[in-house]
Amino acid sequence: MPIPAAQLDAVAADLTRLAAETAQTGPWGSGSFAVLARAGLLAEWIPAEDGGHGADEATLVATLTVVARNCLTTALVLSQWAAACRLISAAGPEIRRRELPALARGDRFTTVGISQLTTSRRHLGTAAVRAHRGPSGWRLEGQCPWVTGADRSDTLVTGAIDDDGKQCFFLVATSAPGVTVGPPLPMLALSGSRTAAVGLDAVRPAAVLEPPAGGVRTGGLATIALALGAAHAAVDLLTAEASGRPVLDPIAAALAAEVDSVAADLHRAAVGGIDPDGRDRLRSAATSLALRASQATLTACKGAGFIHGHPAERLVREACFFLVWSCPQAVATNVLCSLAGLPVG
Ligand SMILES: Cc1cc2nc3c(=O)[nH]c(=O)nc-3n(C[C@H](O)[C@H](O)[C@H](O)COP(=O)(O)OP(=O)(O)OC[C@H]3O[C@@H](n4cnc5c(N)ncnc54)[C@H](O)[C@@H]3O)c2cc1C
Repeated sequence: MPIPAAQLDAVAADLTRLAAETAQTGPWGSGSFAVLARAGLLAEWIPAEDGGHGADEATLVATLTVVARNCLTTALVLSQWAAACRLISAAGPEIRRRELPALARGDRFTTVGISQLTTSRRHLGTAAVRAHRGPSGWRLEGQCPWVTGADRSDTLVTGAIDDDGKQCFFLVATSAPGVTVGPPLPMLALSGSRTAAVGLDAVRPAAVLEPPAGGVRTGGLATIALALGAAHAAVDLLTAEASGRPVLDPIAAALAAEVDSVAADLHRAAVGGIDPDGRDRLRSAATSLALRASQATLTACKGAGFIHGHPAERLVREACFFLVWSCPQAVATNVLCSLAGLPVG
């Protein structure tokens, strides 16, 4: 059951009010993650039998889009938390009972570090994280190059390659011996997400998790929801600029229509499913829209929008995130072709 629209509006207003602080300290320190927990939004990702509400996919992507429209830092942290929760939700009853109710309440945090299996360091030809099974159980060795909220999370869901070359998934306590959380990376944008590398030195995992149904995927509907929310935020600012400047009206209207069209496609995909090619095309469209809408907004805001601290410059920097985050090769190729003026597949 989705939360009432008026309550979602109140959450959106709180996230916007806290956004500047969240960009600095992250959603843990600013209180924006607590806003999500209090409103029951975290519980949407947790099955009812494990202390949540178990919302449907369309509700989840709609929630992510609203959060991203009002605070992309919070949305990134939420998306990684949600990816971890999905994998924990497929575990046995003992692990679910131990982990999920506290996650639904926002009393504990979790995150995910699996890009080494999909989009990071793949060209090196060696596994970034390896799993060995010995007489005393599993041991993990290596580095997760990207973990959002690493130093604010109690647990990490990670993926490794075992001695037979198979992918396997684990829940790791970030306080476990052998876990080293690196310093938060200073980035072009979203540094408040406290994204860092995590080293694993003979780490004994807290639990073995089932591999995701259908294999580990990247560029899923959550990433499209975040790009759509970012585009929406840019169109909101452009529409405000357009008031009293008729030359901007058709630009804001065209981009708003494109936002509506991507939102409708995303809703259809969440309700009825989408094949991998269609998903990559939709992600490419959402990425392109976020980039173009933010740059149109900066153009409308002129030099004032170029000054550090103006929302337009932040939106332009944040939109670049979609060029690199959870970006499958097909999407990267589409973006590169479009930038080079070549036909997009
Ligand atoms: C802000 C942010 C937060 C993120 N949070 C998470 C998270 O919480 N969890 C998670 O799992 N992931 C996360 N990611 C990871 C993300 O999804 C991608 O995996 C990541 O952006 C891939 O970039 P990379 O530099 O690791 O890629 P790599 O492929 O490792 O590229 C690194 C460098 O290697 C070189 N290179 C790349 N490909 C080739 C090639 N074919 N041949 C030769 N050289 C090559 C290039 O010089 C490149 O700069 C996050 C990313 C960002 C930006």
